[in-house]
Amino acid sequence: MICNLNKFFDQASRISATLRDAALATLYPSGCRVCGDMIESWRDGAACSNCWREIERKSLAGDLCAKCGMRLEPLPSPVEITDRRCGRCDHLAFAYARACGPYEGALRESVLRLKLHPHLTARLREALRRAFAALPDSHLIESIVPVPLHSDRLAERGFNQAEVIARALASLTGLRLDSSAVIRVKKTEKHRAGMGARERARSLERAFRIRAPRLVENRAALIIDDVMTTGSTAHELAETLLNGGARVVNVLTLARAMNEFIQ
Ligand SMILES: [Zn+2]
Ligand SMILES: [Zn+2]
Repeated sequence: MICNLNKFFDQASRISATLRDAALATLYPSGCRVCGDMIESWRDGAACSNCWREIERKSLAGDLCAKCGMRLEPLPSPVEITDRRCGRCDHLAFAYARACGPYEGALRESVLRLKLHPHLTARLREALRRAFAALPDSHLIESIVPVPLHSDRLAERGFNQAEVIARALASLTGLRLDSSAVIRVKKTEKHRAGMGARERARSLERAFRIRAPRLVENRAALIIDDVMTTGSTAHELAETLLNGGARVVNVLTLARAMNEFIQ
């Protein structure tokens, strides 16, 4: 009887989700930001399900650098090497960086939307959960540290999108969220066109400061951001955390810009 009731409520909640999606799609008709097709489900956010499938396929395709997650040139088959590295990221302070996928299509549009709406759609949460589960040694991670925004930038924008992602991951994993462990003391531009990786790295030097040392000492921390471009921001924050006594620092972002090479 209880089992039947559970089935009934499961079915009812699925039907109501479908009805809600249909009602919202009628109320707010919106096209996919990638291909222009109709978005059928509210849970997909900025892109249609075909474009999501496309980015999920791309996320799985090809070899990635074992440290920074950069896409690597394919090797002539049948050569197979595990733990290939790009050779450009050795100096970066974090142990490894991973992303839900490349900064393209549905993921790019979702990241852009997140700058305006502080909410992760169900599809994005699912991508984040999968990317976290695929991290090497994800069970050893102890705390989640979103890349902090400078207080002036936070006042302008009203929220920190890295913190929105980190909060979602904390609720998905049960890990502790340490959003007040580090602050950003230097105002830097996110990524200006024509700004080289070296110039960007220099502008970020000493950009962060530890505010709560006991939240950093001896912790295995996971840095969270929306996009990783040159890796300079993640590097600078990782270095600050390691100097503050963190045991190991890794990085997870929603997306990885694959055409920006670290120099
Ligand atoms: Zn589409
Ligand atoms: Zn690399």
